[in-house]
Amino acid sequence: MSTTETQVRPGLQIETRLFIGGEFVEAAQGGTIPVTNPHDNSILAEVSEATAADIDRAVAAAREAFPAWKKMSASDRGRLLLKLADAIEADAEYLAQLESLDTGHPIRDVRNLDIPRTAACFRYFGGIADKVEGTVVPVDPGFLNYVLREPLGVVGQIVPWNFPLMFTSWKMGPALAAGNTVVLKPAEITPLSALRVAKLMSDVGFPKGVVNIVPGYGHVAGQHLAEHRQVAKIAFTGSTAVGRKIVQASATNLKRVQLELGGKGANIVFEDAPLEAAVMGSAFAIFHNQGQACIAGSRLILHEKIADQFLDKFVALAKSVKIGNPLDPTTEMGPLTSAGHRDRVLAYVEVAKEQGGRILTGGTAPSNPDLAKGCYVEPTIVEAEPEHRVCQEEVFGPFVTVTRFKDDADAMRIANSTSYGLGGGLWTTNLKRAHMFAREIRSGMIWINSYKRVHPGSPFGGVGESGYGREMGFFAMHEYTEAHSVWVNYDAQIPPFYKR
Ligand code: NAP
Ligand code: MG
Repeated sequence: MSTTETQVRPGLQIETRLFIGGEFVEAAQGGTIPVTNPHDNSILAEVSEATAADIDRAVAAAREAFPAWKKMSASDRGRLLLKLADAIEADAEYLAQLESLDTGHPIRDVRNLDIPRTAACFRYFGGIADKVEGTVVPVDPGFLNYVLREPLGVVGQIVPWNFPLMFTSWKMGPALAAGNTVVLKPAEITPLSALRVAKLMSDVGFPKGVVNIVPGYGHVAGQHLAEHRQVAKIAFTGSTAVGRKIVQASATNLKRVQLELGGKGANIVFEDAPLEAAVMGSAFAIFHNQGQACIAGSRLILHEKIADQFLDKFVALAKSVKIGNPLDPTTEMGPLTSAGHRDRVLAYVEVAKEQGGRILTGGTAPSNPDLAKGCYVEPTIVEAEPEHRVCQEEVFGPFVTVTRFKDDADAMRIANSTSYGLGGGLWTTNLKRAHMFAREIRSGMIWINSYKRVHPGSPFGGVGESGYGREMGFFAMHEYTEAHSVWVNYDAQIPPFYKR
């Protein structure tokens, strides 16, 4: 394979062209997209920009690869995914540096969470590939009815910039295991790790065209992919606003749509909570990845009896978070992933103040001059009312609202007061209450005395304006297959209707 690599930093070379049909190729129009390091806003690389013609080429390559990939034994498809998981582990340090530079994630978190989770997810779907079984339906005597789970064809996958490496595995793992071929568009600002995964896939022997990686702008490349008539499904992770556009674009050929959208996670601390664990867990819930997580616990809902005690500890913890260069292994919080996003988060501080919100800490960029060029925001805690905009709209930063409640009914009302329904947390030692809230809170996932746990076997997805469909586990395998019902008249009997 020919390579044109850019040196991102000494020892870190990356292919910057589009990956189509098993080759790195120039973009049809020759345009490029600058990729920046949010620590200091320097340019890391220029990647090729896919436009409509490139998406057409990628879809054609995926279509050509589909029949053989579908026909390949499921265990052989699985074996390639298992090899990819090993390759990711072997490439862990390279990938960790690349992801940390491109996104601003602290390298500590990328090493400990993103990389192992990415490998684990590919490995899980490698293992599940040959374990999806059809069914036999008890129908009329003389007939056998069996149901196969068949792959859909070419699937388009569009992902955001908050966990760009991990999302390659969440999206491609189940799609490929089930026998589909893929065109994946990374977010334009964080395309580097997906291009590296493309190279690893090529190295471990994925057939040409099974996976195509096409960085490009959402309104150009993403829109064209979502509208494409030869694409059988679009799996989208991103904002609710763009999710609506995806649904509209899908109408061209009525393609299947799976939507993992925004969230406004309720994180409720009851008066009987294990307080130390709740404080630590709530900090992880909102400050991990600078709060750029769809499942972030961005609304703290505190029982009035323990609110002051909780906040003393929580505010002190927020003030002590070590903010700095993400490549420093002691850094706990890095910059937001882009300057535009940092500005959007800081604008929400003004929105909070205008409606009477009280800033308990943060609300600005850090004063450290070493970080002045980067996209940094202090951990921010705002006391606000449930109907305030900052308690209703997704801020997607290290920005958490605090609201107090009197009793269980009040907590439930506040928890269910947004249009989102993705993740949520409960901190209590009362089992009855925990199970009741777990059932009644409108959301796809609930964590009891923890927050933000994920596993490749456990369904992930939302309700309401957080989207529909589920990633992970057998749920995901069903999302990427279609039931195909086969009727056999095994007695070769003539049905009564035709009898003369
Ligand atoms: P976004 O603006 O919706 O973008 C997501 C992806 O869609 C990007 O690749 C983007 O490309 C592309 N896109 C933009 N406009 C498009 C269009 N008209 N047609 C097709 N594709 C288009 O979201 P984001 O700001 O990158 O990510 C943050 C959002 O993602 C938050 O709302 C967060 O909650 C959500 N999220 C959800 C989950 C979940 O599992 N539920 C997980 C993570 C994040 P460009 O990069 O070129 O804009
Ligand atoms: Mg970047």
